[in-house]
Amino acid sequence: MDIGDGKGAAIQHWLVRQRMGSKNNSKRAVITGITGQDGSYLAELLLAEGYLVHGIVRRSSRTVRPRLDHLTCDDSVYRQRLFLHYADLEDLTTLRRLLVDIQPHEVYHLAGQSHVGVSFEIPESTCDFTAMGTLRLLEVMRDLRPSPRFLHTSSSEIFGHPTVVPQHEETPHVPITPYGAAKSFATNMVRIYREAFELFACNAICFNHESPRRGESFVTRKITQSAARIKLGLQTELPLGNIDAQRDWGYAPDYVRGFFALLQADAPTDCVFATGTLHRVRDWLEIAFGHLDLDWTEYVVFDSRFQRKADPARLVGDAGKARRLLGWQPEKSFEAMVVEMVEHDMAVQRELVRSLPGR
Ligand code: GDP
Repeated sequence: MDIGDGKGAAIQHWLVRQRMGSKNNSKRAVITGITGQDGSYLAELLLAEGYLVHGIVRRSSRTVRPRLDHLTCDDSVYRQRLFLHYADLEDLTTLRRLLVDIQPHEVYHLAGQSHVGVSFEIPESTCDFTAMGTLRLLEVMRDLRPSPRFLHTSSSEIFGHPTVVPQHEETPHVPITPYGAAKSFATNMVRIYREAFELFACNAICFNHESPRRGESFVTRKITQSAARIKLGLQTELPLGNIDAQRDWGYAPDYVRGFFALLQADAPTDCVFATGTLHRVRDWLEIAFGHLDLDWTEYVVFDSRFQRKADPARLVGDAGKARRLLGWQPEKSFEAMVVEMVEHDMAVQRELVRSLPGR
């Protein structure tokens, strides 16, 4: 059911179905996880490409959707070309009904419990949502006629402690976190369904990718937000875990371009999306605090709560296949990305200060 205001629901539903259905010649795409960082960028990209975009939203998820506000507040977009629907990956019946109604040309499966650290606290629900949720969706794909093109966002966490550096599509999976294990299962299922049932099903194996829309508990956003708050006198210290941890950090809008390109390819396959360069957490500190003329060593304190039980090492991707097959390559530099996030957080925090009582 389209998310509405409860008024004239039946008529609204009928109108929506008209627009959703085959009377409209535009291509239709479904995005699970549309309220997340990648989902919101992908929605923008697909709308710009002329698609009708249907986002799947968990009923339990927050009704505030800051990453989509600019689209849902635009009357020429929301319920005209962008539709949101309540459905759950645990509730196959609703999902199936929706997909049968929409008859999408493309399905982008981005939803999942995406926090690696949290997956140690809630391993069962991480696996149910991330692993089984993907399998349930593949089961629906199997029955849809015509069968839509399907993309699953996999993760570098499937490689865990890799024996091969850099990692590519054929690198063996050695996950070391519940999240990595769940993603590995889902990635294999996508490949198995592609081969066994001839689905156009692809894995986008993504290394870390960041942006101003990144969740605030990820170390990257935590650093850029804290730097801004410290600069404005709203915070005095920044507790962190291992600041020598290394990752291959790219820019989310670059990766979302890759997702779209992968589903336009001639044949279904898996592709790694990565920059191929490793950075340390302390590089984020240097650039983010440095950009604001701050010395990070005066503010960062070690906090064992943020130390992982297990943390992958040497996760760095080889995106050669994406480059050769799709002509894809990352455009934004590491430094430019960090600065963009700091600037964004400065603007957000300044606005917050302005809205404080007595200002
Ligand atoms: P992940 O790669 O998906 O786990 O992305 P995160 O941004 O959560 O973590 C990236 C790296 O930063 C990991 O190696 C963490 O161990 C490390 N790290 C160090 N301190 C922190 C912290 O305070 N929060 C988080 N989230 N990660 C931290």
